[in-house]
Amino acid sequence: MKFLDLNAQYRTIKNEIDKEIKKVINSSSFILGKYVEKFEKEIAKYIGVKYAVGLNSGSDALTASLVALGIGKGDEVIVPCSTYISTVEAVCIVGAKPIFVDIDINTYNINPNLIEKAITEKTKAIIPVHLYGLSSDMKLIIRVAKKYKIKIIEDCAQAIGAKYFGKKVGSFGDIGCLSFFPTKNLGAYGDAGMIVTDNKKIADFIKKWRIHGQNKKYYTEFVGASSRLDGIQAAILSVKLKYLDKWNKKRNEIAQYYLENIKNDDIILPIIPKGYFHVFHQFTIRFKKHNRDLFQKKLEKKEIPSIVYYPLPLHQQKAYKFLNTKKHYINSELVSKSVLSLPIYPELNKKNQDEIINELNNI
Ligand SMILES: *Cc1c(COP(=O)(O)O)cnc(C)c1O
Repeated sequence: MKFLDLNAQYRTIKNEIDKEIKKVINSSSFILGKYVEKFEKEIAKYIGVKYAVGLNSGSDALTASLVALGIGKGDEVIVPCSTYISTVEAVCIVGAKPIFVDIDINTYNINPNLIEKAITEKTKAIIPVHLYGLSSDMKLIIRVAKKYKIKIIEDCAQAIGAKYFGKKVGSFGDIGCLSFFPTKNLGAYGDAGMIVTDNKKIADFIKKWRIHGQNKKYYTEFVGASSRLDGIQAAILSVKLKYLDKWNKKRNEIAQYYLENIKNDDIILPIIPKGYFHVFHQFTIRFKKHNRDLFQKKLEKKEIPSIVYYPLPLHQQKAYKFLNTKKHYINSELVSKSVLSLPIYPELNKKNQDEIINELNNI
């Protein structure tokens, strides 16, 4: 059994994908170009915003967003303490200081009630991360952001298609960041990322930023980067976008089956708060008695794959020791020791899922 079987998905759309790749090669539209423009339009429409700008990766989308908002040295940016490294790394790359805020123990997302306390006169932005495919509590986040006039950059890398009271994530903040890393719900066959926004100035800035800050070829306005989406990835993603809602629905069916059939008093199952559409990038369970590692070993023996997202909270990572955050972030620390993600992808078959459930119920 595999934790994720990307080839199983490819087999269901192989003809379409292969045809599109050939078209791109025949047209030599390799970097940016018409396939990228087409996909940008499709994503903007899908998320419900005016502009989308294709980039090299989700990590670059975060960096570009911070640069576009003028955030740098001397500024502070609020981030959840439990997320993928990129979120915090981007803040450091632009020279700003990440300010960690602990997560809510039930949703694993930033605890909106702790944000206000973390705000200082240096705070310029907050990056809510919609972790595992579940939207953060945007109503509360927007309320604090408005009160203190700080920007919102949504990290939607794990949550494309997720909704918060009917509206898609990525459409709430000043900028939304998407990743099309192959394992994401909408995955390319290589690296790819994108920003989405309703702000034309931001979109125009990032369109230049991705080509070295150039307004026209070989004339550069500001220090930018080399971060372009390529035509082959865009063409592949255009094909896959047509199936995304169906795949996200399938993930929900698989999640529902887990929720109904995992019966073990040691295990806390993920929740779907009212008004949220979860896209289950991960199906993450938590062990009450902190015996996660033991469970994982037992699953391993039965050849059932599982992954810990993430084993070490950011404030405890070697790279970020220099930030000198002496504080404890209780929930982030607790979660890193007790969570476990189970296989969940649209092509996961019932037989395998039953095996996983049986093992979990019998340990
Ligand atoms: C995957 C991911 C990213 C980074 O995306 P890449 O395309 O791999 O650079 C950023 N934030 C989160 C939460 C992610 O899961």
